[in-house]
Amino acid sequence: MSSESRNEHCIRTEPPWAWIDRAEMPATEPLRADVDADVCVVGAGIAGLTTAYLLGRERQSVVVLEDGFIGGGQTGRTTGHLSTAIDCRYFTVARRLGDEGARLVAESHAAAIDLIESICERERIGCAFSRVDGFLFDPPDTGSSVLEREYEAARAAGVAGVERVHRAPIGSFDTGECLRFPNQAQFHPTRYLAGLAKAVLARGGSIHTETHADNVVAGEPLTIPTQGGPVVRARAVVLATNTPIGQSPAWLRGPSTGTRSTRITTFALLLSETACPGQTT
Ligand SMILES: Cc1cc2nc3c(=O)[nH]c(=O)nc-3n(C[C@H](O)[C@H](O)[C@H](O)COP(=O)(O)OP(=O)(O)OC[C@H]3O[C@@H](n4cnc5c(N)ncnc54)[C@H](O)[C@@H]3O)c2cc1C
Repeated sequence: MSSESRNEHCIRTEPPWAWIDRAEMPATEPLRADVDADVCVVGAGIAGLTTAYLLGRERQSVVVLEDGFIGGGQTGRTTGHLSTAIDCRYFTVARRLGDEGARLVAESHAAAIDLIESICERERIGCAFSRVDGFLFDPPDTGSSVLEREYEAARAAGVAGVERVHRAPIGSFDTGECLRFPNQAQFHPTRYLAGLAKAVLARGGSIHTETHADNVVAGEPLTIPTQGGPVVRARAVVLATNTPIGQSPAWLRGPSTGTRSTRITTFALLLSETACPGQTT
């Protein structure tokens, strides 16, 4: 199959791996000695670094532990679309969590995009953040459509400005009727993480890469042993690892169904996983 036909329905979407660019990241080192902090954040993806950054702004001392390198998890592999259109659809959320749940999902996704935009401006992060329209269309030849249901559900959830349009403005591919979600965004994820990491360091936080957090040991303070030997002692721990770690107690792991969306709701901020079939920006 030629790359042209493979990408027939993935218009203007770069290969996800194109985002990983370690060259722009600030220099970081493994943890080499025990350290105390107000908060230990495990994971230097968008969830962990955003959490560390916001804590730094609240004058909390923060230590970030990262198994690999900054952005080396899923964040370095996204297609960088930030969207209030959600993969699991508002009509599903409303059915499962009620109208108020769907409204909170819509609000939190819009707030997350606004937050990323405001951080870009405040910290002068050059990550090509731009506001764009997003279009949700049915996959071709499926014979069924979710658009009408999703339109009604998105409006009921309060998604601002969502409307039905005849087709997305893509010359090479006729989407047919679709939903337009205005005021979405796109950005370069690892450049954004690089800026965020520099802002964390500038506020006195520390980021230790190639440092695997083994576990979280209950107590006051909490203790986080690392594979290399040194431990972090902290009043609070944020597991922003995308998957549970070690033998940490269930109450620390939070809900995990193994889906990316679960993490998104856990941290109420993350990228909204818009790289789904039938949707492009
Ligand atoms: C191909 C693809 C495309 C996507 N496109 C989009 C998109 O366009 N828009 C969108 O909104 N979302 C998209 N997503 C989803 C999005 O990437 C994720 O929801 C988001 O990046 C998750 O961020 P995170 O910080 O929770 O996790 P991650 O970025 O995975 O960060 C977790 C970090 O924790 C570290 N870690 C794990 N265990 C330990 C440990 N024990 N000790 C120390 N460190 C540890 C990992 O090394 C990792 O760096 C996409 C996902 C994929 C795979």
